[in-house]
Amino acid sequence: MKGKLALDGGNPVRREMLPYGRQTIESADVEAVRQALQDDLITTGPRVDAFEEAFAQSVGARHAVAVSSGTAALHCAVQALRLSPGDEVIVPSMTFAATANAALFVGARPLFADVDPETLLIDPASLDRLLGRRSKAVIAVDYAGQPCDYPALGELAGQRGVALLADACHAPGAQLDGRPVGSLAEMSCFSLHPVKHLTCGEGGMITTDDAGLAEDMRRFRNHGISLDHRARRRKGSWYYEISRLGYNYRLTDIQCALGLSQLSRLDSWVARRRAIAQAYDQALSGMEAVRPLKVRPGVEHAYHLYVVRLDLDRLRVGRTQVFQALRAEGIGVNVHYIPVHLHPFYRRELGTSEGLCPNAEAAYQDILTLPLFPAMAQADQSDVLTALQKVLHAYRR
Ligand SMILES: *Cc1c(COP(=O)(O)O)cnc(C)c1O
Repeated sequence: MKGKLALDGGNPVRREMLPYGRQTIESADVEAVRQALQDDLITTGPRVDAFEEAFAQSVGARHAVAVSSGTAALHCAVQALRLSPGDEVIVPSMTFAATANAALFVGARPLFADVDPETLLIDPASLDRLLGRRSKAVIAVDYAGQPCDYPALGELAGQRGVALLADACHAPGAQLDGRPVGSLAEMSCFSLHPVKHLTCGEGGMITTDDAGLAEDMRRFRNHGISLDHRARRRKGSWYYEISRLGYNYRLTDIQCALGLSQLSRLDSWVARRRAIAQAYDQALSGMEAVRPLKVRPGVEHAYHLYVVRLDLDRLRVGRTQVFQALRAEGIGVNVHYIPVHLHPFYRRELGTSEGLCPNAEAAYQDILTLPLFPAMAQADQSDVLTALQKVLHAYRR
């Protein structure tokens, strides 16, 4: 176990790279897609409604709107707020760039909130400091699959008349105090990318209890057309109306067939993710120089990611070296995320720089994402732990 590191020419723990995440496609999925391909309507057909209904039900929301990606979902949700140029949308910096871009798509300005160092979730105190006259919305990110502190965020947002949205791309199947993610904010956005819990190849979903918002987003995903072709057919009419600017963000019936089939296994996949995470927790409690993120009380975690923090005081090298050594051992670790405000684009366009979000910036120096996906075998997880021990031992101070 303690042999020479693969990075230094030793034998790697495994030959084939274990990815940090990957989709699970079963024969039922293939069959569902095959059937969809043989139907008359391969887009905007019955499978879209069926998938939306099943998804809404699974997260305890009244409505779900299927779109072509998680990014499109965020765009749909933010545009439904009808912001004006100069309005501000507060997002955590520890997220994927699409969260912030959703504000930019509609001409609003993203402001970057800092995160709690223990959980890397948006810190309500940081949000409180940023809320001002031009604030119109906050997009909370359920980082790694852990729901944010929605009661605290909702109270702040409510006091200021600001909309509370959820970027729940990491968290289908998660719960807070017994309430599912997808029902905790005004609108919640999900991604159906292969690395996420459920996949359509590409895809996204927005859930809401508000029928007006759902209708608005359905128009926006379809060129701003006020009646879709099914409604037109019911009317027996050639007529349609473009009432506003829209996009083509539709999800096909082929994709919805896959999504619907996948959705039936969400619960068992989340259970499997939790079991893998629990085994990591246990193994890590006996290791030096590495610890998992904290899970808040009342949280049922969905574990899109299993993120650890390295104790760099106990190591002779930085995170980058540990990352490279683990990759050389065949372990596909990753880093989620580079704080958004540090990317060149946001520095240039928004004038952001180091020091804006100290907790996110400090975390970025020492976080690592370990492989975690439902189809991962026990032997795969043992390889991760073996490699982690080997690398941390070699680099201990
Ligand atoms: C994946 C992801 C997105 C974007 O989803 P796509 O389907 O890739 O467009 C947005 N926000 C977060 C937090 C994500 O993880």
